Amino acid sequence: MSSVCAVPDDAFRYCGRFAPSPSGPLHLGSLIAAVGSYLDARHQSGLWRLRIDDVDQPRCQTGASDDILRLLEAYGFEWDGEVLYQSRRTASYREAFAYLQETGQVFPCACTRSELADSSMMALASDGARIYPGTCRNGLPAGREPRAWRLRVDEAAIRFVDAVQGEIAQHLARDVGDFVLLRADGLFAYQLATVVDDAAQGVTHVVRGADLLISTPRQILLQQLLGLPVPHYAHLPLVINDAGEKLSKQTRATALQPAQANVALFAALRFLGQAVPQEMHGADLTELWQWAIDHWSMRRVPQHNQTLANFS
Ligand code: GLU
Repeated sequence: MSSVCAVPDDAFRYCGRFAPSPSGPLHLGSLIAAVGSYLDARHQSGLWRLRIDDVDQPRCQTGASDDILRLLEAYGFEWDGEVLYQSRRTASYREAFAYLQETGQVFPCACTRSELADSSMMALASDGARIYPGTCRNGLPAGREPRAWRLRVDEAAIRFVDAVQGEIAQHLARDVGDFVLLRADGLFAYQLATVVDDAAQGVTHVVRGADLLISTPRQILLQQLLGLPVPHYAHLPLVINDAGEKLSKQTRATALQPAQANVALFAALRFLGQAVPQEMHGADLTELWQWAIDHWSMRRVPQHNQTLANFS
């Protein structure tokens, strides 16, 4: 099947990307995803694109996008082409959604969040989200209005080989359920936006944090349904604190400062298992990047989440 969404004709052999959400400043956890995707691209003389994932407008923080771009620049990242903003991409998401609607693959759902939370049938998925029990999949209950739109999933397992995490299989029907593509607030969901944009940016390799591993089978299913290429995936270990929680705005991760570039990059390289020599600790940023690009090895990246104690 030909593709529903725009895919560039000049597809590049390797095109990576970094797609931060501007819900707050960059912290060491997000830097690790940026560094891993950048080095994997540059080591293979590939392109590296930047996208601002601001589709979830209510979660965006004023000024955060510009701060992220400034920080990436101060850290010596160089991206190819224009920065893509998801907030300007609604027409493309609508087109992809319309195709799924015309082909009967989405259905309206009337359930509110609290109804779903109350439902005794609802099991928890491994990411803590509720598995949709299928309430509206065969039609809206009488007298109810549509709120969100969900993609109908089937029993088949989605399988892929992740460059860090190995073989992954997920049964969407059992583990996730029919999932939301168009939210009750009228915004397109992360899963749809990501798939449409990865294709539009010609992304061949997605390197990102392991917190998103749980989303990848949903994204692969969407790629298959929309006739889009399925990129290679690599999910990097996460930085966790002593309580085992992922560094995030919620766990009050400290914002990276421009002046910390060398120290933070050095720490990120060590975290990613790269054998950066101790002498490089004091090296200037250009030298450190050059070493890292020349020596990058995905095979050295550890699978498991770790703490990063000696970085402040
Ligand atoms: N915007 C997402 C985040 O900051 C990343 C999305 C992705 O890499 O697919 O966690």
